[in-house]
Amino acid sequence: MGGEETEPGYPIHTHDVLIIGAGLTGLRAAIETVDAGLDTAVISKVHPLRSHSVAAQGGMNAALGNAQAGDSWEDHAFDTVKGSDYLADQDAVELMCKNAPGAVIELEHFGTVFSRFPDGKIAQRPFGGVMFPRTCYAADRTGHNILHTLYEQLVGREKSGRITFYEEFFVTSLVKAGDPAAENGSGRNERCVGCTCINLADRTLHGFSCRALLLATGGFGRLFTRSTNALINTGDGASLALRAGVPLKDMEFVQFHPTTLYGTNILITEGARGEGGYLLNNKNERFMEKYAPKSMELAPRDIVARSIQQEIDEGRGFDDKYVLLDLRHLGKDKIMERLPGIRLISLDFAGVDPIEAPIPVQPGQHYSMGGIAVGNNLATELPGLYAAGECSCVSVHGANRLGGNSLLETVVFGKIAGQEISRAFYFSSSGARVRAGDKKAEDNKVGDKIAVLDKLSEDSGRINQLLARD
Ligand SMILES: Cc1cc2nc3c(=O)[nH]c(=O)nc-3n(C[C@H](O)[C@H](O)[C@H](O)COP(=O)(O)OP(=O)(O)OC[C@H]3O[C@@H](n4cnc5c(N)ncnc54)[C@H](O)[C@@H]3O)c2cc1C
Repeated sequence: MGGEETEPGYPIHTHDVLIIGAGLTGLRAAIETVDAGLDTAVISKVHPLRSHSVAAQGGMNAALGNAQAGDSWEDHAFDTVKGSDYLADQDAVELMCKNAPGAVIELEHFGTVFSRFPDGKIAQRPFGGVMFPRTCYAADRTGHNILHTLYEQLVGREKSGRITFYEEFFVTSLVKAGDPAAENGSGRNERCVGCTCINLADRTLHGFSCRALLLATGGFGRLFTRSTNALINTGDGASLALRAGVPLKDMEFVQFHPTTLYGTNILITEGARGEGGYLLNNKNERFMEKYAPKSMELAPRDIVARSIQQEIDEGRGFDDKYVLLDLRHLGKDKIMERLPGIRLISLDFAGVDPIEAPIPVQPGQHYSMGGIAVGNNLATELPGLYAAGECSCVSVHGANRLGGNSLLETVVFGKIAGQEISRAFYFSSSGARVRAGDKKAEDNKVGDKIAVLDKLSEDSGRINQLLARD
């Protein structure tokens, strides 16, 4: 792995664009910047295919109207705004819902193996809080399928020489440098020019310099004891942005998923209720009749999660901790075809076969609606710094995300972020090529930041991640 060296000997890697995060957002953005001719690096603290997007189960929304005619992007937008408690940004919602059918078709053309109806059309299942069944899925392994597809697309582009993956590189800080050009209009006298990293494999320190940096670092679920999120979802992007002086938005809006497996809190997808699964308390009652008589188990997530918790708190749970999700009436064939992953999770982690017995479930933290404040062009307040996906808040989810809208957000806004970065790279608002900046001075800034890290590791004998973030 090459890279120019700074005076004290730290490698500095230079790329046009740095994308931090190799989940669906980061990979979809990278396809755009690579295709636009930009030298792009994707940095991830885990192998791209271990990014948390791989765990997404139930599916991705788009008003294709395959399950029920008459659906439209306007209905999708209405459901999204209503589900958000009317707190979503309606322009951003329009952008997402209008682009949804095209995004699904594009993924299909890229090679995603969506489940199909008998007539060959992409299958769609009902999810909570919506008027039409519009969640497209690949059994209950949708994220796995899409992530592999996007990764394959980028591997196929490696021969262009414009994409480099830095796997198991942990980003510790963003680097800013003064740029008089940025003063014009932006009100900031500095821009994001790179980041510092620890190579986790050999603990070496690396600097990266760039013209634009996209944070696509996912959520912060691991702040909570009970979470469906992977252990790597520690909110690094929000922390990196905040420490660079970039504001966060709507951080109080955290989603709790109604059905996580009791004990481990592994997600039991909403798709299980979408396929007809229902909830029972210790009196064998379908208690959702009391809370949402019309939509029952497919009420929005916040309502179902609160209802379950109320049943538990009022003594109608099991061991005062969980309720039951019953899938038995779906029958073996449907469970094996549509929910094979859920069956395995239940067997492996609770010793329960949902074909024969109900699954013990309880609510758990699931999704961060808030994040790094961005506009519809995914730019933050700091010139050169962009954010997209779960780490960002373009505000399509307001106070409550609808199931299936997050995978959609990653690919729609990942693509737009890549396009906006490419556009900004080539042209300033006046039509002139973006000023190159003082590369030497910027690299020195990156070098200075690494020197601080290096000093910390010398003092303590090992790099303490918490100290390294200052
Ligand atoms: C179990 C589960 C199931 C879900 N199912 C669905 C579903 O069916 N439908 C739906 O719409 N949504 C679903 N969601 C939500 C959805 O999966 C996520 O919101 C989405 O995948 C996030 O994608 P992302 O690209 O923003 O981030 P992620 O996929 O989380 O990727 C983050 C990337 O950032 C990298 N990274 C983070 N910090 C650093 C750092 N300091 N240095 C270097 N790299 C770093 C990571 O290595 C990773 O590559 C589900 C969520 C969970 C928890």
